Amino acid sequence: MKYDKKYMAQMNKKAVLDIIRTKGPINKSEIAKLVELSIPTVMKISDDLTESGLIHVVGKGESNGGKRPELLGMISNAYYMVGVDIGRSKTIAIIMNLNGDIIYKKKIKTGNTNPAIELLERTTEIINQTILESKISINKILGIGIVTPGLIDYKNGVVIFSPDFQWENVNIKKHLGNAFEIPIHVESSNRAMALGEGWFGAAEKSKYFICINLGHGIGSAIMEKGDFYRGNSGSSGEIGHITLEKDGPICDCGNRGCLEALASGNAIAERAKKYINDGKSTEITKFIENGINNIEAKEVFDAAKTGDLIANKIIDEAIEYLGIGIANYINLLDPDLIVLAGGMVNAGDCFIDKVKESIKRRQMKFAGTNVRLEVTKLGMDAAAIGAASIILRKIIENGGNTSKRRKKNE
Ligand SMILES: [Zn+2]
Repeated sequence: MKYDKKYMAQMNKKAVLDIIRTKGPINKSEIAKLVELSIPTVMKISDDLTESGLIHVVGKGESNGGKRPELLGMISNAYYMVGVDIGRSKTIAIIMNLNGDIIYKKKIKTGNTNPAIELLERTTEIINQTILESKISINKILGIGIVTPGLIDYKNGVVIFSPDFQWENVNIKKHLGNAFEIPIHVESSNRAMALGEGWFGAAEKSKYFICINLGHGIGSAIMEKGDFYRGNSGSSGEIGHITLEKDGPICDCGNRGCLEALASGNAIAERAKKYINDGKSTEITKFIENGINNIEAKEVFDAAKTGDLIANKIIDEAIEYLGIGIANYINLLDPDLIVLAGGMVNAGDCFIDKVKESIKRRQMKFAGTNVRLEVTKLGMDAAAIGAASIILRKIIENGGNTSKRRKKNE
C-alpha cells in the first residue's frame, strides 16, 4: 500500500532523529541497532537529515578494528522555536534552540486578562519583541508554542475555558495567526510543563510520569511513553479539583473542599488572611508587602521559616492535604515518577521533604512502591520550555521536515 510506504519512511526518519536527539553523538551502526533498521537505511536517512540542516558529523568514535566511525549529533542552532507561557501573573516568552537551551528570554506582567483581545495583542507584541531582540532570523524559527492555564482545544488552538483568566472560547491561534506566518500551537500550561520536563528536565528517562503544578492553583498532566494522556474530553489531570473535605472551603470551580481550595498557594494565602482578620497573633503581617488583601503564599512560607506558629499550622495542614491528594493519584495511576513544579516548589527543601513524607504516610502499601518524587529541573521556565518543545516535537514527528515551516495558519 502506497500510504504505508510513505508513512513507514516518515516513522523511520522520526525514529532516527529521536535517537540522534536523545543519545547523540552516536554512530550509524548503533543507531541501526537501536531503531532496528538496516545500516544502508540509516545511512540514507542520515544523509537526508544532514541535507535538511538538522544534523551533522560531530566527531569520530572509537574504532572497532576498522575505520573510526563518524558520530552524528543535532545542530543545536540550526533552527529555533518560540515558547510563550501566559501565566496568571507573568508572561514569559523564550527562544529555544534544538538542544533545549534558552537563547533569549523576556518576561512581562500579564496584566488584565479581559478583554482577551487586549491580552492577545500584548502577547503578539512580546513575541515580536522577543524575536527582534534575539536577532534571530524569522526564517530560522520553526513555530510558536503558546500555553495558558485552562481547558484547551489544542487541535484548533482555542481556550475552551480558563477559570484563571475568566475566558470561554478564546481562539488564540486564529488571532495570532493573523500576525505571524509561522505555525502556532496552543496547549495547556500544565501539559506544556510536563512535556518540558519529559524532554529536557526531571523526567527525561521516565515512561509513566505525572507533573504536578503547585502554584496559585493546582493542576497536573499525565504522560505515558512520551504522549499526553488527555482523557475523553481533554480534561484529565485535574488533581486540584478532587474533593478531600465534603464540607470544606468553596473552590473557584464552584465545588467544596477541593485540593486546590485546601492546599494551593491561594488557599494558603486565604487562610492566613482569615487568621489575621480574626485577630490571631502571628508574625505573618511583618512579611506582607502589598497589604493584607494581596497576601501571597510566599509571605506565609517566610513567616513559617522564622518559627511562627500560625504560619506553620497553615503550611503543615496544606502539606497533609497534598500528601493525601498525591498519594491517591499514585494509587490510581501507578506512575514511575512524580515531578513537583510551580511556584510553591520555591518554598525550599524542607517543604518538599515534608510533602514527600506526607505522601508516603498516605500511600497504599505496595502501590507505586518504586515511584520517585522529584522537583522540576526547569524551574519557572518549565511551561515556556514545554511550549517551545511542542513545536520541536511536531518537527521530529514529521521526520525532520522543516520546509513547511512558513505555512500560513488557516
Ligand atoms: Zn475545585
